[in-house]
Amino acid sequence: MSKNKSEYLIERTNNIYEVVIGLEVHAQVTSNSKLFSSSSTKFGAEPNTQVSLVDAAFPGMLPVINEFCVKQAIKTGIGLRAKINKRSVFDRKNYFYADLPQGYQISQFKYPIVGEGTVILDMPDGQKEIGIERLHLEQDAGKSIHDMDPQNTLVDLNRSGVALMEIVSKPDLRTLEEVSTYIKKLRSIMRYLGTCDGNMQEGSLRADVNVSVRLKDSKELGTRCEIKNVNSIKFMQMAIDYEANRQVDLIEDGKIIDQETRLFDIRKNETRSMRSKEDAHDYRYFPDPDLLPLEVSDEFINELKSTIPELPDDKKKRFIEEFKLSAYEATILVSDIEISKYFEEVISKMGKNQDIKLAVNWITGELFAVLNNKNLEIAESPISAENLAKLVNLIKNGTISGKIAKTIFELMIDGDRDPQKIVEEKGLKQESDPKALEALIDKIINDNREKAIEYKQGKEKLFGFFVGQAMKASGGKANPQLINEILKKKL
Ligand code: ADP
Ligand code: MG
Repeated sequence: MSKNKSEYLIERTNNIYEVVIGLEVHAQVTSNSKLFSSSSTKFGAEPNTQVSLVDAAFPGMLPVINEFCVKQAIKTGIGLRAKINKRSVFDRKNYFYADLPQGYQISQFKYPIVGEGTVILDMPDGQKEIGIERLHLEQDAGKSIHDMDPQNTLVDLNRSGVALMEIVSKPDLRTLEEVSTYIKKLRSIMRYLGTCDGNMQEGSLRADVNVSVRLKDSKELGTRCEIKNVNSIKFMQMAIDYEANRQVDLIEDGKIIDQETRLFDIRKNETRSMRSKEDAHDYRYFPDPDLLPLEVSDEFINELKSTIPELPDDKKKRFIEEFKLSAYEATILVSDIEISKYFEEVISKMGKNQDIKLAVNWITGELFAVLNNKNLEIAESPISAENLAKLVNLIKNGTISGKIAKTIFELMIDGDRDPQKIVEEKGLKQESDPKALEALIDKIINDNREKAIEYKQGKEKLFGFFVGQAMKASGGKANPQLINEILKKKL
């Protein structure tokens, strides 16, 4: 099996297969209330405490469209560079399940609110465009709980009626790496827009994963299987890996792939058949007679366009131009809106004469390491942008060395302390007085006469020895650059 970055091929004795993936991402709309009722959507409430008569489908209750959710979907569509449809229609998708009290899900089927768009992925070997087929609005179902009662399945309707955006990709994804980058990019765009928090642990972002395989270089798509409701990138990748190999094995055995809906079993790391794929007509879709077609005007759309913030792709371009960042650095810094805010705040707090490269290194190096260790988001950073900016400036203007800066950084973590104060308090200021350093170096050369002679006779490696001695003698505070200059002169 070859899993290099740009292609994911499965090799068997006589054949090489390519994997084709398309994702249907369900993103919970960030909204205080549900798609057709005013109940709260707050996560983590006691079961069945956020259920209106509409959500519980009491007879005679009528849905009322939540304008805010419509705006959120349109904004997301704009973020996906997609066509916004001025007319869309809510249908009833009919099926029976205990956690679906209406007996149907209200979902846009034939006429979605958002049409075709694109998402750009930054892959190690360049950019790749993934097509978006559509984005439609629909309501979530309730939740069946199978492990709280030994005899019964319990139902929690808090989620029932919560607004979801289903974002359907074209079958353009080819590798596990692309799947991960695609999900992260979608999440990033929606977080910039404030339309979905992208929290996979809380179920705000889940995906149905469609997988097929075909002979490499074949132009036709193979039969796909759909793996339902996978809620982490890792599991998506594991499920695809398992499923693609299963399909190749079947084909190699001369069997055909049934188009079916499968489940991913995390514990066994395998996909299992759930049901043969139902066709759209099985759901008896029809326009919901309780809801008028949704019509939005150009003004409505344009007004939303004017509220769209700078999105990751544009921000990346600007960071590269304005701050002379590498594409790689820019990609990291724009990947999350909070990271980009932090970075820009550091830049602005550094004032004039800033060393942006140095700031980037400290953010993506030391700071990210601390966040990682403590499992914190950048918004919870123990060191404020202001104090990090001060630290970088202290290095830049020669007050402290990079090495001392690391010591100070450790001290800053507790209580977001001002690095300038730590320098004063601990007497960590870098020794940059040439006179003092010369005296110090004279003494070292004197104490190590033989080594100095050996150096002069050509044993150049000894230079490092003298640098080390000088740094040690100064308690690590000597300005390394000056030490180098003076030593060169004196030796
Ligand atoms: P359905 O609701 O029947 O699953 P959708 O149109 O909502 O149909 O979604 C189809 C998804 O499957 C899309 O993400 C699409 O990219 C993907 N897909 C379609 N054909 C294939 C294929 N042959 N291999 C992999 N993915 C596919
Ligand atoms: Mg589907």
